[in-house]
Amino acid sequence: MVREEKNSILIVDDDSGNIKLLVELFREEYLLYVAKTGNSAIEMAKGIMPDLILLDIILDNDIENGFNGFDVIASLREIEATKDIPIILMSGLNEPEDERRGLEQDVVDYITKPFENSIVKLRINNQIKMINYIRQIEHMGLTDALTGLNNRRSFNKKIDEEWARACREESVISVIILDVDHFKRYNDTYGHQQGDVVLQTVATVLTSTMQRATDFVARWGGEEFIVLTPNTTKLNAVNLADRIREKIEQVKIKLPDGSITHITISAGVDSITPNRNTPEILLGELISNADRALYTAKEQGRNRVIAH
Ligand code: GH3
Ligand code: MG
Ligand code: MG
Repeated sequence: MVREEKNSILIVDDDSGNIKLLVELFREEYLLYVAKTGNSAIEMAKGIMPDLILLDIILDNDIENGFNGFDVIASLREIEATKDIPIILMSGLNEPEDERRGLEQDVVDYITKPFENSIVKLRINNQIKMINYIRQIEHMGLTDALTGLNNRRSFNKKIDEEWARACREESVISVIILDVDHFKRYNDTYGHQQGDVVLQTVATVLTSTMQRATDFVARWGGEEFIVLTPNTTKLNAVNLADRIREKIEQVKIKLPDGSITHITISAGVDSITPNRNTPEILLGELISNADRALYTAKEQGRNRVIAH
């Protein structure tokens, strides 16, 4: 994954001189944000989700409420959105004991002040490289290489979150499972590579048909896809599935010799409106019911949508 955007760094320091120095060192390469108190640092971190935080330990502005860098770390770690943001402590406390205590916090490095500009630059660049590398690996672990869609692991993570939300809000969630019709035959006739083109085409149609940012599309297995639509009734999910089905039926898939092929898909749909007392097992049922409906769609002749 190539990141087009600059990485962002939140600098938390109460000393204007230090801030100026850091801004001058990093303004070219990174998007910089500055907070001068612990509380504003936490608010800004939640808002901008920086890639890295450079955090001073003694924050004079916060001294009356006894708030220091360690408290900022503790607060950030308690907030879901900020709990994993890497932090580098930068402090004038430069005894070995200070450094040890600093590194025992949940931080990636401890830099003592005063520092050598060029070395700090290299250290921070190294951390950013590492952060980007980890992010790339995480992205690969959640993405299907052939279609670029979310993979099954990503879907499972997402549906757990959405299930928890639906239980809290007592809102409806729907699931659509789609499967390419006679795909084995297609592969056998046109070759596996051409089969891969079909899967990429289905992925493109799926993503372009979704209307809401909360709709979530994933490759579920070989030629099966799954869509999670929060706050969508079963009827609306069926309509959405049918729009996908129609679009796919109409897509012209080119063969290498220029001739055109067509494919169809079948889909199964199910919905649930859970609440706090709904057992987790019903989440599994939601998916298996959609799968059963898909099976019925196949039995009834394919190229159709069936709701459980
Ligand atoms: P049905 O209409 O009942 O769904 O029949 P089908 O032939 O589509 O279903 P079946 O499950 O018998 O065959 C699925 C085929 O999908 C077999 C497998 O080789 C193929 N397949 C699975 N993953 C991939 C892939 O990544 N690329 C390609 N080209 N084919 C794949
Ligand atoms: Mg199939
Ligand atoms: Mg299948």
